[in-house]
Amino acid sequence: MDCIFCKIVSREIGSPLLAETEHSVAFNDINPAQPIHILVVPKEHHANVAELAFANPEALVDLIQLGSKLAAEHSTGSFKLTFNTGEEAGQTVFHAHGHITSKTPK
Ligand code: AMP
Ligand code: ZN
Repeated sequence: MDCIFCKIVSREIGSPLLAETEHSVAFNDINPAQPIHILVVPKEHHANVAELAFANPEALVDLIQLGSKLAAEHSTGSFKLTFNTGEEAGQTVFHAHGHITSKTPK
């Protein structure tokens, strides 16, 4: 499957990772919308967060825990975690991912 986030997970594309767990990886968004803009991505391919929630809830919890930890490390603690779901909602990469954004870096 031609999926850019699968290629980052498999290290076929060598984007620097901020963190990795059993289920998830995290890396900086290539086109940051805010001073802190980190993507948290499940290692398993699912098209969006809704599919991930049903297929592998443990991986979704892991992703949220990793995002929260990175938000605490990189921001003052105020952040958003958003999941664009579906093309009309602005989703452009169809491998589930959460956006951790913050206006207040540490
Ligand atoms: P979404 O619009 O929710 O699907 O978000 C996809 C995000 O992935 C966008 O914010 C892009 O800037 C980001 N993105 C796309 N390709 C890469 C990449 N190779 N490395 C890091 N971020 C990427
Ligand atoms: Zn994928």
